Amino acid sequence: MVRIAPTPSGYLHAGNAANFAANALLAEREGLDLLLRIDDLDRARFRPEYLQDVFDVLAWLKIAPTIGPKDPVDFERNWSQERRMPLYVAALESLRTRAPAQVFACPCSRAQLAEEGHAFACPDARIPLDREGVAWRIDTRKTELHERMPDFVIRKKNGRPSYQLACTVDDRHFGITACARGEDLRDSTAAQALLSDLLGYPPLRERVRFLHHPLLLNKGEKLSKRQGATGVREWGVSREEIFAIAREWITTP
Ligand SMILES: [Zn+2]
Repeated sequence: MVRIAPTPSGYLHAGNAANFAANALLAEREGLDLLLRIDDLDRARFRPEYLQDVFDVLAWLKIAPTIGPKDPVDFERNWSQERRMPLYVAALESLRTRAPAQVFACPCSRAQLAEEGHAFACPDARIPLDREGVAWRIDTRKTELHERMPDFVIRKKNGRPSYQLACTVDDRHFGITACARGEDLRDSTAAQALLSDLLGYPPLRERVRFLHHPLLLNKGEKLSKRQGATGVREWGVSREEIFAIAREWITTP
């Protein structure tokens, strides 16, 4: 199974659409199901118009996922990540039991972390995981990931699962076997492979064939949902152009 996994935290841009197309082409080429998985854990940035935008962009691309929500109402009712919260909570408990040496509690603020890095006490301080207001992190010091994604978060200070945790659990839950994602997510793939191992899942890179594609640039700058794009009609590109880019991504070795 292949997935399209947008986050409804802004209007999608042409780069997101090209990623959708790449996954749709991948599913078609390999005869796999295509799952629409909308990652809505970040409810603070969620807006109904962003959710609707996902369906509008898919319709414009003429992509029809074979599994997943049919519309926003179906999504909220049956497919929201909130519905899978018990799976994430169970995975966090499993990590804490299976990997007590790697999971640690960290009360540090963003400012503190930026100032001092994380070379100080938290990973070794063994602060109780049940203390109020601590994030749960993975000690990455013995991994190659440490340079790029040091001690990434698996449970936020508000007790909710992080993106890395939820994505790892969801990919396993839905049986994802191939995935095209932006090369900016290479470190995420490494973090998720580590979590997958710690959770005792079969090795991530043996289960899922990842294809990291370049990011679409706008005059040399990375596209972002915050750059004021207000929906598919203002991108100034055609559906055919989007698919041409996506086709190139999935055929370039
Ligand atoms: Zn800390």
